[in-house]
Amino acid sequence: MLDSEIEELRARYRAERDKRLRPDGARQYVAPEGDFGYYVEDPYAEEIQREPLTDEVEALVIGGGLGGLLAGTRLRQAGVDSIRVVEKGGDVGGTWYWNRYPGVRCDIESYIYLPLLEETGFVPSERYSRGEEIRRHAQRIAKHFDLYRDACFQTEVSEMAWDESALRWTVRTDRGDEMRAKYVIISSGPFSRPKLPGIPGIDDYRGHTFHTSRWDYGYTGGDQYGGMDRLADKRVALIGTGATAIQVVPAVAEDAERLLVFQRTPSAVDVRGNAPTDPEWAASLDPGWHQRRRDNFLRVVHGKGGDDEQVDAWGELTRYSRAETGDDPELRAEIADHRKMSALRARVDEVVSDPATAEALKPWYRHVCKRPTFSDEYLQAFNRDDVELISTAGHGVERITENGIVVDGVEHVVDCIVFATGFDVGAGHPAFAGTPIRGRERTLAEHCARGLRSLHGLTSNGFPNLFCLGVGQNAVSVNFSHVLDEQAVHVAGLVGQAEARGARCIEPTERAEQAWVDRMEREALPIDVLAECTPGYYNSEGQLTRKRPGYAGDALEFSELLRQWRETSLHEVLR
Ligand code: NDP
Repeated sequence: MLDSEIEELRARYRAERDKRLRPDGARQYVAPEGDFGYYVEDPYAEEIQREPLTDEVEALVIGGGLGGLLAGTRLRQAGVDSIRVVEKGGDVGGTWYWNRYPGVRCDIESYIYLPLLEETGFVPSERYSRGEEIRRHAQRIAKHFDLYRDACFQTEVSEMAWDESALRWTVRTDRGDEMRAKYVIISSGPFSRPKLPGIPGIDDYRGHTFHTSRWDYGYTGGDQYGGMDRLADKRVALIGTGATAIQVVPAVAEDAERLLVFQRTPSAVDVRGNAPTDPEWAASLDPGWHQRRRDNFLRVVHGKGGDDEQVDAWGELTRYSRAETGDDPELRAEIADHRKMSALRARVDEVVSDPATAEALKPWYRHVCKRPTFSDEYLQAFNRDDVELISTAGHGVERITENGIVVDGVEHVVDCIVFATGFDVGAGHPAFAGTPIRGRERTLAEHCARGLRSLHGLTSNGFPNLFCLGVGQNAVSVNFSHVLDEQAVHVAGLVGQAEARGARCIEPTERAEQAWVDRMEREALPIDVLAECTPGYYNSEGQLTRKRPGYAGDALEFSELLRQWRETSLHEVLR
């Protein structure tokens, strides 16, 4: 690639980003509270009636998504008998409980995304499972490991406090429960709180509206598989074109009289290539295949070798990178990124027949800036006469009126507005999620007031027997369920050892925590690439100002670090 070509692309990317920068950054969104509270009501379950509980369990797991179920499973395998899952939804599944929009599927290969496949004897029916298959797998896990036994659904933890004299957590909920637990594991998920755009006039709209994570099948008819017959005479607007919208558009296009897709930033849409699982392949799998396949995925995407054949388009950037020569690894990565994005822009021209629509659907930013998406139906949907792309040229929807949506001064009258506007990812971490968690001396939010303070992102000084699964001061991977499993294995390893050795509690020393915090500061991830990115939740809506403390290695290295630490240093956290 010529230097002039690289410069030209950099300038184009910068210009596109600048169009999208806004002074209010993450404050442009409104929380689904107060008048907007109905956006988060549960459309899937009847209200459960029960008396408040005042009992005690050994381990209390907050969150019944894949992370919580993995924590419960690994604890069960470590010998813990009394485990209570506390979950806001009406059943297990977490993000797969809430996200039942039409077309929902995992975008990571199901053979590595769905956890505990060998333990439960399940092989997914397709390479990319439908949401319903994943939700049912979550139920399968809960049944298999007897996690329904003490579970509390439609229950939200309102506060919790450590009782040093009893060495127990007291956990209070919005149902008046006051439960006690020796260990608490929080896995509240990064995508648990939907967000809405603060578009002027959003509360003036008189038609029907909902968020994709609470799909209103009562209004649309049908289910995740389609058949939304009540949309046959409806003009439907979809705001947002992220990973969710990519899956929603083809399904709604099939059933609505007309679909208007309001786009601020186009997604990069790669080939999907879904296929039913080959029964011969499924029958040939030998013990240990699942862990090997998950590890292989990480090896390939992190450029550490591995078998390329087993890895889908998520491994493409590494493959492009490998093909580049040159001494500067950052420049090599940038050129690989440019080549990949040029190929994706060329794909838009190949698929979309109308040149102006094709132009508007082309993503002009680096591949690493936004969640890549995959579909063999999304771009194709814009070739239909009943689907219209309303590009806002990077500025977003101008206004919402009683009757519809205004862009560029033109009002588009619609019967229904669906918000595919994503989630408040900051709300995922327990320290910032608004639930008071009082440790020995202070709350977790106070403890983390100037940034996360933890050992391995999982435990903190002053918060005995408390474990927070998820993102922060640890390694992440796009295959998030794998990351959660490694964390759950670690936590169960700690609890198992604490019980075996008769320890009263597990808590990192101040020194160990400080050493980990210092290491995260030292290894702080460079922000240059992300700061130059088009805004989004990856870069705090374009307002990244300082390096992000974090673990510099990859998820494979992190799992190995945890494993070795359990062998050599585990005794340091037992008291
Ligand atoms: P995103 O946050 O990725 O997308 C939100 C969309 O709303 C963006 O296109 C955004 O535009 C748009 N938007 C926000 N405000 C406005 C506005 N004022 N006017 C017009 N458009 C607006 O949310 P998603 O729900 O799509 O995805 C969230 C995450 O969920 C993904 O990143 C992925 O990690 C996960 N996911 C995973 C799936 C899986 O299969 N595993 C499937 C679906 C989602 P802009 O880009 O300009 O901000």
